[in-house]
Amino acid sequence: MSSFGSMWADLEPVGRHSSTGGYRRFAWTAVDATLREWFRGEAERRGLDLVTDRAGNLWAWSGNPDADGPGLVVGSHLDSVPDGGAFDGPLGVVSAFAALDELRARGFVPDRPLGIACFADEEGARFGVACAGSRLLTGVLDPDRARALTDDDGTTMAEAMATAGHDAAVLGRDEETLRRVGTFLELHVEQGRGLVDTGDPVGVASSIWPHGRWRLDLRGRADHAGTTRLADRDDPMLALVGAISVARASAERHGSLATVGKLRVRPNGVNAIPSEVTAWLDARGPSEDGVRSVVAEVAEAAGTVPAEESWTSSTDFDAGLRDRLAAVVGEGAGMPAPVLPTGAGHDAGILSAAGVETAMLFVRNPTGVSHSPAEHAEPADCLAGVDALARAIEALA
Ligand SMILES: [Zn+2]
Repeated sequence: MSSFGSMWADLEPVGRHSSTGGYRRFAWTAVDATLREWFRGEAERRGLDLVTDRAGNLWAWSGNPDADGPGLVVGSHLDSVPDGGAFDGPLGVVSAFAALDELRARGFVPDRPLGIACFADEEGARFGVACAGSRLLTGVLDPDRARALTDDDGTTMAEAMATAGHDAAVLGRDEETLRRVGTFLELHVEQGRGLVDTGDPVGVASSIWPHGRWRLDLRGRADHAGTTRLADRDDPMLALVGAISVARASAERHGSLATVGKLRVRPNGVNAIPSEVTAWLDARGPSEDGVRSVVAEVAEAAGTVPAEESWTSSTDFDAGLRDRLAAVVGEGAGMPAPVLPTGAGHDAGILSAAGVETAMLFVRNPTGVSHSPAEHAEPADCLAGVDALARAIEALA
């Protein structure tokens, strides 16, 4: 009997919104504190040493990674997008603990320290920078910039961390933590239908598409919606509408994806012409040139230079490790597990770019829907994921 089910049941109500059924698990909030407490409890229950790094990422270690490392680390994140699904992130963390339980029950003793990681602020839902925890850890997110990032209420990341009991003064590339990580393996729900097409419960990641976020600030002049003649208006919403249409057409032309999913309108009144519209563009695709072209065309349509909030180049996971994992995971089926790319960003991609040997496992998502309450994985596939992760740990630790 896997420990997966009871851990899943414990996490299920945390941060779930009653009206949408979606999760609102944002970094450095009370809900986040509950999730961290849960992680701490699971680590303690198993006799693991809990370490919080300078970025606020949590590490639960079996063995001593300083004396006997670097170790093998498995894990993912527990935070969510606004009204996100239950699986994106938590599946990897819960599966990591369950895989450890399975291995211990079999009497497996790893040759090197084994860690379980929970990365902070992976989705960037509150402060706008995805993978903030791993970007801070590896130094690709400047600590001054991070501390000054604000949420929709104007609270800075530094203030939010302080409220949650984490000292933002210590942010910055964390060599001590990085030295402990020899290999990082992240299990994640698939966010597409690749495994549905191949008919496999578990697959191995080949690469992560290049992707980024840009902010478009469009300014006009606020005025009365009832008394201002159309010809006299300076309405930034019109430029935005044009830019969004161009984003779609340009993405189609360049074989990429482009999304405007978040807007801020000032003064945000039904009967007021906006004075300012801020829109966030998410663009990604198989080729960096294609994505850059989309952003350039959107910029031209909007008549403004977008502010780049984040950019992650293409990640190609270590081919040797990838093929080894495909063989290990596919053993039961008698053929290697499928290897497939993804358009979703992950902490694994950030660590890989920083030179850490990294791999990812995907668990089948029957609809492919993600970042939505409809995100799903069948219980049998979740257990197949735990089993695959356990076999991967056995092979690598
Ligand atoms: Zn995720």
